[in-house]
Amino acid sequence: MPKGGSLIYHCGMNFEEYNIWYLEPANGFERRELRLGICPVCGNNIVILSETRVTDGKHFSSYIKAKHQKNVIEREESRKLYTLKELRNSKKKLSGGSMGLIQQSKERLAHY
Ligand SMILES: [Zn+2]
Repeated sequence: MPKGGSLIYHCGMNFEEYNIWYLEPANGFERRELRLGICPVCGNNIVILSETRVTDGKHFSSYIKAKHQKNVIEREESRKLYTLKELRNSKKKLSGGSMGLIQQSKERLAHY
């Protein structure tokens, strides 16, 4: 079953992206994301640019045509702040590493 609007739709299928790039605001748009996926049916690369217009808060989500994908990815690479993969990796490191423990004990001290 589709989980809200976060899945990619192609060839009559809903599937999850393999990565999301979180991008800095540009050209009057904010909360910009580039979602990357591969369609399990046709095997095509899927690139979706989601962004919210600052002036009226209207949300836009557009599938980038195959011939424009390379250009869009090259353009947005310089605006990339972090990616979903990096986010997942840093969470893993934090929960297992000593930094996470130090942070936890500091928080505990603050409560008493
Ligand atoms: Zn497809």
